[in-house]
Amino acid sequence: MIMKGVVLYKTNGPLVVEELEIPSLQDGQVLVKILFSGVCRAQINEIKAHKGPDKYLPHTLGHEASGIVEETGPGVKKVKKGDYVVLTWIKGEGIDAPSCTYTTHKDKKKINSGAITTFNQYSVISENRIVKIPKEVPPDIAALFGCAVPTGVGIVKNELKAKKGESLAIFGIGGIGSCVLLGAVSAGVSPIIAVDINSDKLEFAKENGATHTVNPKEMDIKDVVAKIKEITNNEGVDYSVDCAGIPLMIEAAFDAIKDTGTTIIAGNPAYGEKIRITPFDLIKGKKIFGSWGGSVKPDKDIPLFIQDYLSGKLKVDKLITKTYSLDKINDAIKSLGKGKVIRALIKMDYARSTIDK
Ligand SMILES: [Zn+2]
Repeated sequence: MIMKGVVLYKTNGPLVVEELEIPSLQDGQVLVKILFSGVCRAQINEIKAHKGPDKYLPHTLGHEASGIVEETGPGVKKVKKGDYVVLTWIKGEGIDAPSCTYTTHKDKKKINSGAITTFNQYSVISENRIVKIPKEVPPDIAALFGCAVPTGVGIVKNELKAKKGESLAIFGIGGIGSCVLLGAVSAGVSPIIAVDINSDKLEFAKENGATHTVNPKEMDIKDVVAKIKEITNNEGVDYSVDCAGIPLMIEAAFDAIKDTGTTIIAGNPAYGEKIRITPFDLIKGKKIFGSWGGSVKPDKDIPLFIQDYLSGKLKVDKLITKTYSLDKINDAIKSLGKGKVIRALIKMDYARSTIDK
């Protein structure tokens, strides 16, 4: 079978839409017809080789999507043909299948792929990256349950265990930061302080439950911390989450918490970058750690978060700011890189906005 898929041939791109041949399925692999795929900052980091030289070139991309199961390989028990699913990079239950290799139809070049990639019309996915979901969830919304929602909401609910009346500052209102915000709102966290240099994003945060906004572009970074302390009666916030991946912001996020507070790093600073913090703050009781997908167990947590969405508690529909066709993938990456969209979505040309029951 032949499909359209996006290939990264060299670091810094551009991405190339190719006709790719799909190999036959091995143990634990599932062939999924992709409906919508999210575009995440992680892919920009991959394109730019932010974590070091890219040893997998050429390769396919993408790590959150919605789709329909087309075929299952030997040993797959979790899903069957026709199931409506979320695809996530976060490992869950089931077989951890080997990565697949596609072949270009034109010149039979080998194209590497991970356990999950989603910028393709079809994708060979490892069984442990798939979660079956109810058909009530529109497929564009469903795609966001692969990375942005579990990471952002997982940070609030699983890692911080933030409760009603506790305070939170979010540094960077992109895809993950917005989901941290939505998760915090659904948990009754207040005040919620949104920090971003983009005034449109601060406006978005305010419309979706942030009680205060701070723009570091308008002040010295020290004043950002002072402003957050001022909002919280000079104590500092209970929690701060960095979604910007900028060392200076991570340091400010840590300086802005109270002595018993916790900072979580969810942004991805470039490999080799360092932060400076005061060790005495750690001795006094401040905590700082990094998040790996919001410590989410996909098979348990994604259905829970979907329930919160369906009941109206978690307003995931607010996140979708722009949808592109697969052919416009380079435009989607560019807009996301420039901070023009919160979360870009790729819509496959055959995808509809609802799933037949
Ligand atoms: Zn992601």
